Amino acid sequence: MRPVWLVQLLKMTFGGRFLLARATRAPLIGALVDRWLFAGDDLFYLPADRVVMAQSRRTIPVGLPVEASADVVLPSQVVEHFIEQAGFHWLMHTCICREASRCQDYPIDLGCLFLGEAAAGINPRLGRRVTKEEALAHVRRCRAAGLVHLIGRNRLDTVWLGVGPGDRLLTICNCCPCCCLWRVLPHVADRIGERVTAMEGVTVAVSDRCVGCGTCTQSVCFVDAIHMDGDRAVIGDACRGCGRCAEVCPQEAIEVTVAHGRFVEESIARITPLVDVRSPSFRTQTG
Ligand code: SF4
Ligand code: SF4
Ligand code: SF4
Repeated sequence: MRPVWLVQLLKMTFGGRFLLARATRAPLIGALVDRWLFAGDDLFYLPADRVVMAQSRRTIPVGLPVEASADVVLPSQVVEHFIEQAGFHWLMHTCICREASRCQDYPIDLGCLFLGEAAAGINPRLGRRVTKEEALAHVRRCRAAGLVHLIGRNRLDTVWLGVGPGDRLLTICNCCPCCCLWRVLPHVADRIGERVTAMEGVTVAVSDRCVGCGTCTQSVCFVDAIHMDGDRAVIGDACRGCGRCAEVCPQEAIEVTVAHGRFVEESIARITPLVDVRSPSFRTQTG
């Protein structure tokens, strides 16, 4: 368990994270930091439900009612599956990133949710154990506030929180485009950046409807993956498929597609072997 003063110190140095991130591009530093803070990690962004809903409405075949989109499978079901499964739910009192950055645009009180028994070791002055229902209400509030879920195993969290083991701690981050720690992704060594990806099967593309207004390039993308090339927006390889740029485009020119209908099952299958969030008694019964 980490003392609160250490967390305060981390907040005070938060502004230097881009410098530290760039230092990992030196091969030796990158290898050490990767091993210390990111070994075994697998995290991915979920596109916002409302983006997937909006896209499905656009692609409903002519003749079918718009209500047909009510059946669409939503990325948030991945998050809610693990909340339902978990035997221990822990909510941080604040979002440390937004608090450290004095965020003006997104709520500071909507922070990380941790699942799994390792979260029981987090300093109780930083958060509290919550019920499954409170955890579900929290992630719904986050989505309503325009935050985007990042989910997966994250060794960095076990280190700064002083808890473990890593295979008993699932991170659910609720990210803003402005202050989130993961804005360092374009700056870190590739071997670290590759551990944080888009959800399987998600593609984001700019269509011919783009009129070159530039709205999508104005502090919308947390990894700076979208830029203008002449009179058209272009999305680069750094894209993590969050869908924020699609939300702001006045022409609905950015298309976020999920390749197949089984993405929820496949995303769950990707995380399940990495982190066991169930309670110990449940594991004993089921093996
Ligand atoms: S990782 Fe996301 S939810 Fe967690 S503290 Fe940072 S911005 Fe907030
Ligand atoms: S906001 Fe839409 S129309 Fe404007 S540049 Fe971006 S993709 Fe093109
Ligand atoms: S390019 Fe768009 S979808 Fe990709 S990470 Fe940036 S804002 Fe998200």
